[in-house]
Amino acid sequence: MPSSLRLEQLRSREAPLEMGSEEFRALGHALVDRIAEFMGSIRSRRVTPAERPEAVRAILGAAETLPEQGTGAEQLLHRAADLLFDHSLLNGHPRFCGYITSSPAPVGVLAELLAAAVNANVGGWKLAPMASEIEAQVVRWIAEFIGYGAGCGGLLVSGGNMANLTCFLAARAALAGWDIRKDGLAGGPRLCVYASTETHTWIQKAADIAGLGTDSIRWLPATAGQRLDLSALRTQYRRDLDDGHRPFLVVGSAGTVSTGAVDPLGELSAFCREHTLWFHVDGAYGAFAAAAAGAPEDLGSLSLADSIAVDPHKWLYAPLEAGCALVREPGALLRAFSYHPPYYNFEVDAVNYFDLGPQNSRGFRALKIWLAFQQAGAAGYRKMIGDDIDLAKHLYSLAEAHPELEALTHNLSITTLRYVPPELRASLGAEQTEAYLNELNQRLLALLESSGEAFASNAIIDGRYALRFCIVNFRTSTADVEAMPQLVLRLGREVHEELKPARAADEPG
Ligand SMILES: *Cc1c(COP(=O)(O)O)cnc(C)c1O
Repeated sequence: MPSSLRLEQLRSREAPLEMGSEEFRALGHALVDRIAEFMGSIRSRRVTPAERPEAVRAILGAAETLPEQGTGAEQLLHRAADLLFDHSLLNGHPRFCGYITSSPAPVGVLAELLAAAVNANVGGWKLAPMASEIEAQVVRWIAEFIGYGAGCGGLLVSGGNMANLTCFLAARAALAGWDIRKDGLAGGPRLCVYASTETHTWIQKAADIAGLGTDSIRWLPATAGQRLDLSALRTQYRRDLDDGHRPFLVVGSAGTVSTGAVDPLGELSAFCREHTLWFHVDGAYGAFAAAAAGAPEDLGSLSLADSIAVDPHKWLYAPLEAGCALVREPGALLRAFSYHPPYYNFEVDAVNYFDLGPQNSRGFRALKIWLAFQQAGAAGYRKMIGDDIDLAKHLYSLAEAHPELEALTHNLSITTLRYVPPELRASLGAEQTEAYLNELNQRLLALLESSGEAFASNAIIDGRYALRFCIVNFRTSTADVEAMPQLVLRLGREVHEELKPARAADEPG
């Protein structure tokens, strides 16, 4: 029981974390000034400082223990800004073309501040009335933008992995054929999932987390153009039925993570309909391209999917994190996640997001997407995505036209290429040449990264080590794209000069 003196003191409580509105205003303005300066100077910065972990830990003072006493927020915010601006990989840099991470939309950066200020808990409608409705609208807009059914259901999650997992669990609950949520896997035969070898690693995590185990994944070859081989699907499906297993899910990729290939979605959907299988599309990267002019024809079949995972923190340029799981039939999420009897939910005419996914308390991810959608409009988004695709195409043609570059693939906004020294052109495909080119291009990529001039990642195309440029970046211009081959040539020649003597010594005879 606190003493009455203590309670008296707490009448004018002074909490160490409280901040008066004047102080908040001053610190906020100063921080926004620093962020504006950072964004304004981003082009002249190194894309990455390429520092070793030990160096980063030393700068941070990683070994320091938790301070006992507090420090003024002004000083802390300045230090945090310094640390982050100077020791981060800048995916907002115009020459950042690695992985699939986008430049963050500035309006989204501001949205995060606003969302945190209100601190809506978008788990239940009552806890976040306006935020819940904004999320519902964003989910509808995302579906509308990619041409998915207007009556679909969905929710925002942290990213592509979680969106795919959410859909995976919806499929499992819908098609296992027994009450798998109650009885678990003991209730029936082995469940089988079909996907191409180009599928992102989320599928292994999902099969594991869902209790099926990774052996339940039937890996199908991705042959012509890195696309799933339909005849392999038919054969494997027959075999599984004959063995007494239960196929339930086929996964198609709308833009594979490695090369941006789009699986034959129309045919996959027809196969699933014929055999009563769930058809899921992993569109984490590529689904948004369905809206752009000249999109691959297969993206027109997105509407046939039972569920789709998309990633607003990729091609909608939302700051991390934001993924979205969509299901054609809204009840599918409720049946996979809710622990209320369904009638309870149908009585309320508003959505409680804790019923539709694995999370309970949920942040307000929708605001940054909602604002960016309106700032650019659908037309603005179609243009940005189309521009990214055209720039990737341009990079491919530049590589094609240059005798020391080999253009390997182009799909959506991903182009892969490699450096080939002129004297090795004639022996492309020979084992020794290929091994040498793999080593050369691997070193080239490391050098490119440490140069800080640009950032790319890698892909393996039929055993060949490729430099992979992925443009999900509204800041990248024609000049930036044209600088890439120049950089690759300069570094490629440099690495070749260095490796050549060793190679000559290895040569037989
Ligand atoms: C990025 C990506 C994922 C994973 O998404 P995260 O947002 O990184 O969790 C899954 N599938 C594909 C095709 C992707 O491109």
